[in-house]
Amino acid sequence: MRFSKTFIKTLREAPKDETATNGALLTRAGYIHKEMAGVYDYLPFGIRVIENIKAVVRDELNKIGCEEVLLSALQNPELWEKTGRFSETEVDVWFKTELSAGGILGLAPTHEEPLTNMLRTYVSSYKDLPLYIYQFQTKFRNELRAKSGILRGREFLMKDLYSFHTSEEDLDRFYSEVEKAYGRIFKRLGVGDDTFETFASGGIFSKYSHEFQTFLPVGEDTVYYNKDKSIVLNEEVLNDEVLADLGVKREDLTETTAAEVGNIFKLKSKYSDPIGLKYVDDNNTQQSVYMGCYGIGISRLMGVIAEKYADEKGLVWPEAVAPFKYYLVGIGIKGNKEAEKFYKAHTDETLFDDRDLRPGEKFADSELIGIPYRVVISDKTLEKNMAEVTERKTGKTKLVEIKNLGK
Ligand code: ATP
Ligand code: MG
Repeated sequence: MRFSKTFIKTLREAPKDETATNGALLTRAGYIHKEMAGVYDYLPFGIRVIENIKAVVRDELNKIGCEEVLLSALQNPELWEKTGRFSETEVDVWFKTELSAGGILGLAPTHEEPLTNMLRTYVSSYKDLPLYIYQFQTKFRNELRAKSGILRGREFLMKDLYSFHTSEEDLDRFYSEVEKAYGRIFKRLGVGDDTFETFASGGIFSKYSHEFQTFLPVGEDTVYYNKDKSIVLNEEVLNDEVLADLGVKREDLTETTAAEVGNIFKLKSKYSDPIGLKYVDDNNTQQSVYMGCYGIGISRLMGVIAEKYADEKGLVWPEAVAPFKYYLVGIGIKGNKEAEKFYKAHTDETLFDDRDLRPGEKFADSELIGIPYRVVISDKTLEKNMAEVTERKTGKTKLVEIKNLGK
């Protein structure tokens, strides 16, 4: 991308109401634009980060046999009334809207009901199961507070996966496959070392659910861990029974804050029964379908990664999510000519700062935007047939021969 051709301008200062680091830096660096509290637009750099995160999640889910769909945001109340979840006392984050022809619709905060209902058309026999179906979709939640940048939105991007099984054993088997896939996803996205599978409350149908919590100073959750972090639990399950269950003492636990980037849940037949999704077994007997659900906060993850790696100069993206690999600057006539050549050969992975600005301003922006490698080709470096390559993470610069650039 040519910087001179995008509408993006970096900002010297963050808007005053943007108090969280992720919101402030992502706004200043031109990744996002705030519409109102908890509602953001994703700009050209931002959408590239989102797509990179989605690509990793999609790759790992497809590897374990999942199928991608895209369900509607608008919801029919009649369906949600079957599970009791259209009521505000059950789900307190609904956005509801009126049809001009009369009647109410909901804006989906999650998708158990519609997917389960949709599958009544396609599932009838044990031969149709198991199924693992996911989407990347915008969710709407009327959150009371939304003040942590993109960590908590009223409209946000989620990956939600739902699985459907003939037995609890099969659900358990797939659940542990998802646990492993999540581990690989967070590792590839650069938050593996700080993200821990955490015991959380399971609701009525199983003792625990599991959250994936990234330890982070601005995280909204409080979690407790033992020294080697092999046991992490959410404060909501910190009680004597759970401590005994996990074989850990209260005094061996340390408190910290974390952001929940994922959540996995065994639902059993909580939704399939009331919605009437059943299958017949090989004795021709009707049976309940067992379900699991597995979320990842895609836009929250972007904010978590931004927070995690930011330094005093700006953002520092891990390569797997960075919007570009190279931030290219040409200095002088020959330098710019050579930079054009590099850009032609690496167009898709390069942000070419060809704006009419002083090099110092470009360098400051390259640090703010946080692209992994800054490539500077100047008349001077060209005297030795070299370019200067600076790694954003370490700030270290080395000279690289032009013919080896981008290799
Ligand atoms: P939280 O406890 O943070 O409110 P949740 O338990 O309600 O989240 P789920 O319904 O399990 O979340 O949603 C799956 C994932 O979506 C969460 O793990 C989180 O990463 C993300 N998520 C949930 N709510 C929001 C939000 N308001 N803004 C951004 N991401 C969110
Ligand atoms: Mg939660």
